[in-house]
Amino acid sequence: MKKLIAGNWKMNGSLAANEVLLAGIKAGLATVESPCDVAVCIPGIYMPQVQTLLANSGVAWGAQDVSAHESGAYTGETSGAMLREFACRYALVGHSERRQYHGESDAAVAAKAQRALAFGITPIVCVGESLAERESGETMTVVKRQLAAVIHAVGHCVSEVVVAYEPVWAIGTGRTASPEQAQEVHAVLRAQLVAASTRGQGPRILYGGSMNAANAADLLGQPDIDGGLIGGASLKVPDFLSIIAAASLIR
Ligand code: PEP
Repeated sequence: MKKLIAGNWKMNGSLAANEVLLAGIKAGLATVESPCDVAVCIPGIYMPQVQTLLANSGVAWGAQDVSAHESGAYTGETSGAMLREFACRYALVGHSERRQYHGESDAAVAAKAQRALAFGITPIVCVGESLAERESGETMTVVKRQLAAVIHAVGHCVSEVVVAYEPVWAIGTGRTASPEQAQEVHAVLRAQLVAASTRGQGPRILYGGSMNAANAADLLGQPDIDGGLIGGASLKVPDFLSIIAAASLIR
């Protein structure tokens, strides 16, 4: 299975900066032999610009959220249908920053994943434990509960999602899970997904949390790590390209 490297720009970028960043990524990617799958998850306002800049580039683009509703009186939200109009391929759902700052529950995240799938958008379902949960030995219980809500909502269609394990204590902190710590959780998620899925291996499981040029190869070398969700390092062309190069070498 090809690895997937997805950037999460969070609330960063500008028309000018996006142009420079994407030009750098496209130029670098052209030099990688047999590259892994690559995507960038962008602030929604830039969807038309990014669609134009990435046309025929082999780099996909995604949203950072999607509404659980089809249309109507949901001020501030963006529907799956709207995202589809811009050929949006992925949508992050349940990123820890949305769970934390917007109070998104497991059920809300599951509804978003279901809605994304209904519009032909691949949800990248983020799960992960806080530092307190890890320290009290609850990691597996938390991630399994978060994933179970999505499996319950989408059933066998879980084969069509992407899962991202992102320990909350590793996001934007510079503190990465060790390859062994990440693999341990990925193996548990894999077993849960295989049991629920119609496709042998189940969907891809990405690792996210301070992945960078220096640690990517070790993390991506783990048997159940199928790619990365990259925050800070996805905003720096050389760093993002190094991660892509590492992922492209490992099959
Ligand atoms: C993220 O935002 O999903 C993320 C993994 O961020 P960072 O790589 O900066 O830790």
